Formats: sequence, C-alpha cells, structure tokens
Amino acid sequence: MIKISLLGSTGSIGVQVLNVVRRHSDKFKVTAIAANKNSRIFLSQIKEFMPDYAGLYDKTSAEEIEKEIPSGISFEKGENVLNAASLFDDADIIFVAVSGFVGINAVINAIKNKKRVAIATKEVLVAGGSLVTQLAKEYNVDLIPVDSEHSAIFQALDFDYNKSFKKLIITASGGAFRDYSSDMLKNVTVKDALKHPNWNMGRKITVDSATLMNKGLEVIEAMWLYNCGLEKIEAVIHPESVIHSMVEFADSSVIAQISYPTMEIPIQLALTYPQRLETSVPSFNFSLQKSMNFYDIDVKKYPCYKIALDAAKLGGNIPCAMNAANEVAVDMFLQEKIKYLEIPVLIEKVLDKIEVTAVKNLQDLIETDLMARRLAKELVSMENYANY
Ligand code: MG
Repeated sequence: MIKISLLGSTGSIGVQVLNVVRRHSDKFKVTAIAANKNSRIFLSQIKEFMPDYAGLYDKTSAEEIEKEIPSGISFEKGENVLNAASLFDDADIIFVAVSGFVGINAVINAIKNKKRVAIATKEVLVAGGSLVTQLAKEYNVDLIPVDSEHSAIFQALDFDYNKSFKKLIITASGGAFRDYSSDMLKNVTVKDALKHPNWNMGRKITVDSATLMNKGLEVIEAMWLYNCGLEKIEAVIHPESVIHSMVEFADSSVIAQISYPTMEIPIQLALTYPQRLETSVPSFNFSLQKSMNFYDIDVKKYPCYKIALDAAKLGGNIPCAMNAANEVAVDMFLQEKIKYLEIPVLIEKVLDKIEVTAVKNLQDLIETDLMARRLAKELVSMENYANY
C-alpha cells in the first residue's frame, strides 16, 4: 500500500490524484490532505477517503465544515496546514499540487523529511530550482515530475535521471490563442483565454498556456529536473498534443512519449514508477490520428516565452522574480484589472526594477518573491501603468 499526503486536493491536479487513488484503492491510501478554501469539495473528499489528517487553509471556509468532520480525523485550519501535511510522517509520497510559489516550503519540508516528492507545482522549481535540487541531492530524495512534458521525458529516459542525452524537446499545444493573429490578441477576454483547445486545467495554468509562459516555466523546470543548460532544451508547438515530449540521444535517435492528452498517466506514474498500472485511457489509435504537426514558437506573438528564457539565462533570483510577477499579472488579468497583452508588459517592468543577485537560501527567495509581487501590484495600481 502506497501512502500519500496530498497538498492541494481540491485543485484540478488534486482531484485527478484522488481519481487515481479511487481507481486503485487496493494500492493507494491517502493519509493526509490539505487544501486552500473549497470547503464543500474538501469535506466530500474527507468523507470518501478518510485520511488521518485534513487541513484547510482558509479559516472561514474551515469553520463551515468543522462540525461535519467525521470523528477520528485530525482536522486543522489556518496557515500551518501545508506544513503539517508536508511533514506528515505516515506517508510514502508527498504530492505537492498547490498553485504557485507558496508550495516551496512544503517541497523543502518533504525533502528534509526524506520523503519522495511528486511535484506538480512547477513554480517551485522555476523560482527555487537550484535550492530544491541541491537539497534533494543532499538528502538523497527523488523528485518525481508530474507535469505531462516532464513525465514524458522521464519515461523516455527510462526513469533514469543520470542517463545522458543530446536534447530535450518539449511540446506545446499553443494554448487558447494558437490560431489568433497578433492583432486579434488586443481585445481577448478572460473567457477566451480560459478556453484551452486540448486540456482541462486550473485557471492560472490555462492563462499561462495561452501566453506560453507555461512553456517557458516548463523549460526552466526541465533544466533543474534534468540537470542541463538551456542550450539542450528545445520547445516546439505541436497542436495535437499527443506527443507529450521527446528526448534525443547521442546517436540522433529520438524517443517520444505518446498518448491521448490526459493527466491520468503522469499522475499515476508519479505514484507507481517504475511500475505501470492500468488506466482508463483508451489505446492510441494511429490510423485515426491522421497527422501530427510541429511549428516553431513565434516569440513576437508569445513574448512571455522569451521573458522566461531570458530570466533563466540571467539566473540567480531573476526566475523567482519573473515567476512572482507572472503570478500577479495572471491574477490581475483574471480579475480584469489588466488586459491580456499587458501581462508581459507588467512582468518586464517588474524585472527592470530588480537587480540580479545570487540565491543562497530560502529567505533570499521569499524576499525576492515578495518584492516582485509588491512591485507588480504597485505598477497595476498606477493608472495607465503600461505607459509608465
Ligand atoms: Mg505541462
């Protein structure tokens, strides 16, 4: 029986983790869960999976369900819940599926507690990749990719982080605006950005997919997970989203991982690798597929992709600042406080104001993250900030 502590259980990935657990209830047991504030879903998860520990961050939401928690479950509310779930001892895997940089503490806790960590929160590796991978090495802990692209690479490498390769080729769907011209992007709405052609995901990542920031974040995530420089990573638009990524080896042979677009495979594999279990995913039908296309990324249309790569080149605290500015920019866009095309403008303006410094510890990252968020919010509160 594999015991799981799941952080972010009510989010898109969290719900899918529980679907996998439900399907293989003889193999998996959720011993701890934590979530932000979606109390009704959280309560139903608690009743179904009966974990030993359940923690809800938002106190008001927690109070709504407190009386209905079945007895025998240790229920907690407030800011300690991610800490408690990430340090939960009766777990083999800590599954981190919260949204954003806030997950970094949990990942570091789990590593120091010598638990296997499944990382669905790419922002943690983007902002703190050097620190997190260094700690993982020091404590001899496996970081398991959950992102479909990184899972595809992990599979192509035969689950061997030390296998040498010539190139990683990460595929991108092109997001909601793949077929829009640059001109059409001027007046797109939140609703338009949330219509992803191939994947059903949380709001933040769906906007990141539309801007292709998501692909930039994934390139940085791959640099850290697979210990290589930017020059060994390539991203390509593949509208069908059936090849989830590829690895090219020394002899120029390329291994691709193919399946219908689903998170079920990477999530389940993160729990069972190197073993593979059955899923509900149908077999891939090549004769129905007809074609697979590939295009270069147009950085004029997707400036966020270039911003992410440039941040990776600068290194130090800059990817952390870039990630924080992006989190704020996406949030402001979702709240309709800025326009879609202002997302990259805002991120660049924040980065203009931040000096490159080395990251020595978690405190350095937390300070950079806070500073970038504050700058981004200040800029948005100025009228016509884009012309500022
Ligand atoms: Mg992905």
